[in-house]
Amino acid sequence: MSVPEKLYEGKAKILYTTENPSILLTHFKDDATAFNAQKKGQIIGKGEINCAIATELFGLLEAAGIPTHFIDRPAPKEMLVKSVKILPLEVVVRNIAAGSLCQQTGLPVGKVLKTPLVEFYFKNDELGDPLLTRDRLLLLELATTEQLEQLRTQAQQINQILTKFFQECGIILVDFKLEFGLTPNQQIILADEISPDTCRLWNQSETDPDGRVMDKDRFRRDLGNVEDAYKQVLERVMATKKSQN
Ligand code: UDP
Repeated sequence: MSVPEKLYEGKAKILYTTENPSILLTHFKDDATAFNAQKKGQIIGKGEINCAIATELFGLLEAAGIPTHFIDRPAPKEMLVKSVKILPLEVVVRNIAAGSLCQQTGLPVGKVLKTPLVEFYFKNDELGDPLLTRDRLLLLELATTEQLEQLRTQAQQINQILTKFFQECGIILVDFKLEFGLTPNQQIILADEISPDTCRLWNQSETDPDGRVMDKDRFRRDLGNVEDAYKQVLERVMATKKSQN
């Protein structure tokens, strides 16, 4: 039996090899970072909660015909995934103005966008993950024109599926970040995770701008009750999933 080898340690996850070269093991950590790792901390129980939420959401997307890297969740904080070559892009989908969109455009927080906005950021810590134009993305050869259109289409489909599901959870999906990978036969599939670390989620029944926050903004902005908010998202996801079966 080959010993698992640590391939990569990121801010929230560790990737290990497995006996099968086409399968990797992801370990979800409780560590939390924000503002390009300038702010660091821990959210107790986050690893398990995010692994559970991501498992449910990948399952939901797969069932709707979206290919993902998800294979199995063999332990509470562990996910087996297909080994892919991650595209150095963060694909952000926005339904409601928040975060950097408001800071960079002056749009008020909470403004509902007429149509969802799909944006591409360069996944590069040294450069601070800058927003890309289509021409810059092509200039840097981060994807081909055809791949870019596929990413946009998949991101929009994922948004439709997730928005509807979260609505059934009583949660507004404000915005989220996706990462995609290439399989050995060059197929683009959804990778990384979808969780309160990577989405903005607002409680539908709360109007208070801080009280409604159920995602990593509670950590970023020191709003308190971070663990409770993450737990609440998981509980609602599980309850909604159960009611649908
Ligand atoms: N996001 C993420 N990782 C990043 C940057 C953004 O998961 O490195 C998510 C973030 O949680 C939010 C969405 O992408 O749901 C849009 O983030 P934004 O561009 O507004 O940046 P922020 O305000 O979080 O810096």
